[in-house]
Amino acid sequence: METYPKTHLKLAILATAALLVGISALPESDHAEIERVPVSLSIEPEEIVALTPAPAEAVAVAEPLPQTSDHQLREITIKRGDSLSAIFKRAGLSAVELQRVMELGNSVAVLKKIIPGKSLVFELDSDNKLVSLTYEDNPLRHLVVNRQPDGYKAYWQEAEAETIVSFTSANITEDQPSLYQAGKAAGLSDTMIMNLAQIFQWDISFALDLRQGDAFTVLYEDIYVDGEKVKEGKILGAQFTNMGKSYQAVRYVDSTGRDSYYTPEGASLRKAFLRDPVHFSHVSSRFNMKRMHPIHNRVMPHRGIDYAANKGTPVFASGDGKVTIVRQNEASGRYVVIQHGEQYTTKYLHLSAFARGLRTGKSVKQGQVIGYVGDTGWATAPHLHYEFLVNGVHRNPRTVALPKAQPISASEMARFRATTQTTLARLKDVSGQTRYALAEGE
Ligand SMILES: [Zn+2]
Repeated sequence: METYPKTHLKLAILATAALLVGISALPESDHAEIERVPVSLSIEPEEIVALTPAPAEAVAVAEPLPQTSDHQLREITIKRGDSLSAIFKRAGLSAVELQRVMELGNSVAVLKKIIPGKSLVFELDSDNKLVSLTYEDNPLRHLVVNRQPDGYKAYWQEAEAETIVSFTSANITEDQPSLYQAGKAAGLSDTMIMNLAQIFQWDISFALDLRQGDAFTVLYEDIYVDGEKVKEGKILGAQFTNMGKSYQAVRYVDSTGRDSYYTPEGASLRKAFLRDPVHFSHVSSRFNMKRMHPIHNRVMPHRGIDYAANKGTPVFASGDGKVTIVRQNEASGRYVVIQHGEQYTTKYLHLSAFARGLRTGKSVKQGQVIGYVGDTGWATAPHLHYEFLVNGVHRNPRTVALPKAQPISASEMARFRATTQTTLARLKDVSGQTRYALAEGE
């Protein structure tokens, strides 16, 4: 794990966060008034890799494309720092035409967020006036603005996407001791690896507990347009064997449209406590833990779990609860104590800093950042010392019996069984096998 490519994982986390933020920031009305027309799109590979802007000189001039009747097509590639008015000008169109298009409001809102490297295709009539404009928002859909007798109109053209179910398996070995390395060897993207870890984050400590002999299988969707993979879909099911124990997960979308992962029996995988209060990608497992607390062995028994991580690594509340202590002392350094219901208490020691606004009496949610890894107090290197107590007694969070997760409601059970049957059967079939795409309808 010493050669752990943290940057990639961080990027994946950031990308996921950005995606989530992006989605929530999109007003609902954006696409509400737009007709959706299915159409087959031919996507060139370079259009899919849209993040690399073309060199400026190559795009400065609008290149005439093959003509249809007396109309002319002009494709303009968007440059870094480009504006719509500059693009319209390069296409030989007036500011008035741009204004007419933008007057369509929400339905063309995507044009305000055009991405360098992508292109706009303009269709001009014999008087060089705008007939239509097409923008590839993503490989799955194009925005089209069309001139009609009563003015311009916008709609989406959707690509005919094909969903292919694939699977992959991998083992934790000496050569690939981390989830990241095993996942990469199995051909999973950073995002897929993160999603896989998220599914089992209540059951498995990916930071500390991976061992040789551990193995996993993931059944997931890939989205294709015209034979090109354009997007990763969801994980449909997964199996993870950790230290001799097998965990299975199946995705289920309930009748209200909420998706979550469940055991084959229909119990939610979500639990009251996360296994690791720091993200596994930040933890170096080969660190010699005995060096963390030189004084512990003599002064106090070591009753916690140590996570070696860089100073500043975010520390999460492992469960919903109420902050009872935010304080600093000689031994523990800066530390936080959280009470979870009547029975459970968690402690987080040696922090370099507390999360902003964290105070005694405040409620915190599972996964919420409460502070940052440090080496305050009796610590020789930055690490998180984490303690888990049941009724005031130190316990191992891995072995202690925890409250059972909320199962599928009785009224949903028949539907759950019916819709997850295929995935679970497939998962059983392919478990441990080499990767290949499942034929359709299999
Ligand atoms: Zn410790």
